[in-house]
Amino acid sequence: QRRFDLAEVRADFPILHQQVKSKPLVYLDNAATTQKPRCVIETLNRYYSTINSNVHRGAHTLSDLATREFESARETVQRFLNAAHSHEIIWTRGTTESINLVAHSFGLSQLGKGDEILITAMEHHSNIVPWQLLAQQTGATLKVIPVTSDAELDMDAFEKRLSENTKLVSVVHVSNALGTINPVKTITQKAHQAGAVVLLDGAQATPHWDVDVQDLDCDFYAFSGHKVFGPTGIGVLYGKTTLLEKMTPYQGGGEMIERVTFEKTTFNTLPYKFEAGTPNIGGAIALASAIDYLKQFDRNLLVAHEQNLLQATLERAAADPTIQLIGKARDKAGVFSFLLKGAHPHDLGTLLDQQGVAVRTGHHCAMPIMDQFAIPGTVRASFAFYNTLQEVDRFFVALEKAKTFLL
Ligand code: PMP
Repeated sequence: QRRFDLAEVRADFPILHQQVKSKPLVYLDNAATTQKPRCVIETLNRYYSTINSNVHRGAHTLSDLATREFESARETVQRFLNAAHSHEIIWTRGTTESINLVAHSFGLSQLGKGDEILITAMEHHSNIVPWQLLAQQTGATLKVIPVTSDAELDMDAFEKRLSENTKLVSVVHVSNALGTINPVKTITQKAHQAGAVVLLDGAQATPHWDVDVQDLDCDFYAFSGHKVFGPTGIGVLYGKTTLLEKMTPYQGGGEMIERVTFEKTTFNTLPYKFEAGTPNIGGAIALASAIDYLKQFDRNLLVAHEQNLLQATLERAAADPTIQLIGKARDKAGVFSFLLKGAHPHDLGTLLDQQGVAVRTGHHCAMPIMDQFAIPGTVRASFAFYNTLQEVDRFFVALEKAKTFLL
């Protein structure tokens, strides 16, 4: 196992070593997308330079090599999530497509009038809109688990909203807007007791720690490659075999069929049934490379470092009366969402950028929770393991400077 040395780790990420607006870049927008270690960039380069070809169909050497690496990447993801079978790993474009796949393939065939879908008030739009569309199409109803003023799920309300009509519970594992870590194992247990199927949105959990889908016992788990230090345009849906087998295909086309005639089409086996069209082969192989990169380390050390950064940030914020923290959950990932009292988030974001500090501002694709807190949006600094305490300092120095313009 590789030692976690911050300087060595930072050296693995070429993008971090540059000036933005003539200042050294401080990249604190990791919840939006993470940076890529050199091995991921090199894997993409090697793939396109040496073995690029279409998978599963060519009777030639490069196609065999590409297919082997593509399927081996699936096994890497299987181990990453501790899934029971590699055919339970379906390649998608990302979390959004994974959730839409379930809404379409599971939802349209299994849900009808009177059925209920339960989500939470802190969901990303990707875990709201597909269910609204499904509800419109099927006559099912969308219900919402409320969030407390401390940005935690109201678990009593959750239990009250669960009923024999609840067919699906879809919950974010870690909130991108608030950082809240939700008790997804308990949620899954209780949802199962009520007979519901559970989907977890793991977009913000997989970047921080190892997820074990068999331990969580969730039915579906979704995540995006680009948030776990891999490329954009590749993502994963994990699903339990029994459910995936019952589901209808998501899209029609090549690869997902066994045999096509004009009268009738029979579908391919798992996971190919859900993978119509040429997939993002290079992306899948490079995602496996990102996972291999993470697996070199004891990830507990990486997340402990992120928690140090978060604690240092929260302590300094607590001592500053001009800062309003949004998201006070006890169990919280490295997300610092806040408002500078009297300043618009966007103005602050621009002033920070002028000092080389990259943060995100706005509603973070979670408008309903912004509405609940009666704010238009926040400024969000989000950490990855390659961030440093010096960067936290630089963030606060930049913030002080911005205040002289804004307050
Ligand atoms: N869910 C959560 C919690 C997210 O943070 C994001 C990305 N911001 C998504 C879903 C959507 O991910 P993607 O855009 O990669 O599909």
